[in-house]
Amino acid sequence: MKSKYMLVAAILITQFATAQNNDAKMKPFIDALMKKMTLVEKLGQLNLPGSGDIVTGQASSSDIGKKIKEGKVGGLFNIKSVAKIKAVQKVAVEESRLKIPMIFGMDVIHGYQTTFPIPLALSCTWNMQAIEQSARIAAVEASADGINWTFSPMVDIARDPRWGRIAEGNGEDVYLGSQIAKAMVKGYQGNDLTKNNIIMACVKHYAMYGAAEAGRDYNTTDMSHQRMYNEYLPPYKAAVDAGAGSVMASFNEVDGIPATASKFLMTDVLRKQWGFVGFVVTDYTGINEMIDHGMGDLQTVSALALNAGIHMDMVGEGLLTTIEKSLKEKKVTLQQIDNACRLVLEAKYKLGLFDDPYKYCDENRAKTEIFTAANRKIAREIATESFVLLKNQNNLLPLKKSSTIALIGPLANTKENMPGTWAVATDYSTPISLLAGLKNKLGANANIIYAKGSNLDEDSVFEERAGMFGKETYRDKRSTEIILAEALEAANKADVIVAALGESAEMSGESSSRSDISIPKSQQDLLKALLKTGKPVVLVLFAGRPMTIKWENENVPAILNVWFAGTEAGDAIADVLFGDAIPSGKLTTTWPQNIGQVPLFYNHKNTGRPLEDGKWFQKFRSNYLDVSNDPVYPFGYGLSYTNFNYSDIKLSTTALKGNQTLTASVTLTNAGKYDGSEVVQLYIRDVVGSVTRPVKELKGFQKIMLKAGETKTITFNITPNDLKFYNYDLKYDWEAGDFEIMIGGNSRDVKKRKVNWSK
Ligand code: BGC
Repeated sequence: MKSKYMLVAAILITQFATAQNNDAKMKPFIDALMKKMTLVEKLGQLNLPGSGDIVTGQASSSDIGKKIKEGKVGGLFNIKSVAKIKAVQKVAVEESRLKIPMIFGMDVIHGYQTTFPIPLALSCTWNMQAIEQSARIAAVEASADGINWTFSPMVDIARDPRWGRIAEGNGEDVYLGSQIAKAMVKGYQGNDLTKNNIIMACVKHYAMYGAAEAGRDYNTTDMSHQRMYNEYLPPYKAAVDAGAGSVMASFNEVDGIPATASKFLMTDVLRKQWGFVGFVVTDYTGINEMIDHGMGDLQTVSALALNAGIHMDMVGEGLLTTIEKSLKEKKVTLQQIDNACRLVLEAKYKLGLFDDPYKYCDENRAKTEIFTAANRKIAREIATESFVLLKNQNNLLPLKKSSTIALIGPLANTKENMPGTWAVATDYSTPISLLAGLKNKLGANANIIYAKGSNLDEDSVFEERAGMFGKETYRDKRSTEIILAEALEAANKADVIVAALGESAEMSGESSSRSDISIPKSQQDLLKALLKTGKPVVLVLFAGRPMTIKWENENVPAILNVWFAGTEAGDAIADVLFGDAIPSGKLTTTWPQNIGQVPLFYNHKNTGRPLEDGKWFQKFRSNYLDVSNDPVYPFGYGLSYTNFNYSDIKLSTTALKGNQTLTASVTLTNAGKYDGSEVVQLYIRDVVGSVTRPVKELKGFQKIMLKAGETKTITFNITPNDLKFYNYDLKYDWEAGDFEIMIGGNSRDVKKRKVNWSK
């Protein structure tokens, strides 16, 4: 469902994108430049090496520096600081023949130096303004440090929590994912690419990277086109519609062809169907990896990529080193090379780099605009909104500030793990650990007894992998018994136990798939021992994915899921634990009971043999012998310290025709003692279709703040646009018939009404 505001914004963004491409001066400028370029220089624009051996002061004499001088480099990525970037840009614009500036990319994924919660956590805010603002701040900080291009947003739909990169996306829902894709692009690119505080977005990983078989990273993806168009492609399209300047190809294969060589994806869908006008970059060595995919030697796969519609080659240099030969052998055309080169040059032109190659190299901005107190304050507030209160028996939370607290667990005192995966620009000396956050909150009167309680995992080899990239887990070499005894001593002295358990930052993210998504056993043993003390236990769960915590849900009185909340994590968690901020996050993934249920997602199909309502096993029905079909926590779920009551749904009518608008409303009451926010969710079921339709689909949401005792009417306007889907022939339209309208605070607990909509 689109609000009027969003429609206007979408139109403005599209007009802006068109204006950029219709820039009357751009074409003649690039025509003239390309006339001067040799074939090698054109291929050089398609080359994106990593920053390699560059050190300030030796930019020109480094290996990369030599290539830059020869015109063989179009841009660099993951090079940090104005000084370094300025030095290499100087080589490009002063020492290369045509003086073409370079573009500088980085994985600015959830913030720059001020780090926001991981994307999966950000999605749980359901707050599009906050998400846009996080991207805006990331853009300001990154551009102040020399960067002008980010490899974000990552909008891969993921329904398999085994996949580590579920942490980097927005969860399982295509509608929410599309709204977030737009918000991120808008935050990064603003509405004027010529400003020096924006960065160009790169939507990734196109496409269907999140559907890797068995949740194993880089694995094969295979699905019907109907599922692809309805359930996986829309967020990429939303980012393109919002004007994203570039797209990144994914590592996986689609329909038996690696995405990097897929003409269907790169040309037919992206350019012809969606009208994308920017450039496409491969993922890291994506071309070379096609050799292992079994697509041929480097020359063959490089030609395949160019033919498919790839324009820039990240790291692998296949295009740079083989395309000349392929041109001679007529395996590619000059027109394809020219087209790719033009698109890369256009991106640089749109960013204003030809006017001023040092546009993003302002030392003063670098000193004053990065990791500011104002940015950190916003990051802290947004972090509190991303936490999901999963359980709060007898209102154990919020805690009293006067309590004696035993803070126990391997994740309680590790600042390095707070930002989470993919935080390359974070200064790891700065994040606030939970222990520091509690101390900051309680000051001199703090009664906190800290003990580690257990290692992250019993297995030191596993723990080493889970502590990669300097994200220390500070393994305790003492015996398990001694570490536990110390924790129990602390617990016995306390009024309440805060158990900081779960995953470390590198247990999710790239190449961090898990076949078991429970809390590691050493920590489960600790938790059981803590519960045995009889003291109230609050589980503060760190996670980069949905986890299997059925036992914990049944046995621990309070559970606050805090993901990885960024540099301000500890302060933000303390805000929520003590009620200075009221939790309002809602899950954007389904949390299964056990790994065998995976993939488990709310918008599934009904099958011909669904279970009857309220039953959990029936012979010859679609279910398991050993577990019900229910999740532990459904999509959209999350509690608050207050409670919200929903009235029945009021409809403007139950019989509609053609382009009419249906209004559906509920009255929402904050029936508890705290002011708080609730995410009111609208779901629709298309009861009968020419193809089978999901049991429900999210079609709208509103995040509403209500004072304690306050009541408000929440209205959704529904039009036939909200009923559209891709049919068997991939035609996007709606079909007349009955529809169920559902509104509620999560995907399971909804009020329902039926309408009939005729054409
Ligand atoms: C990841 C991308 C990332 C790229 C550059 C790859 O391994 O898949 O998401 O943008 O590296 O760092």
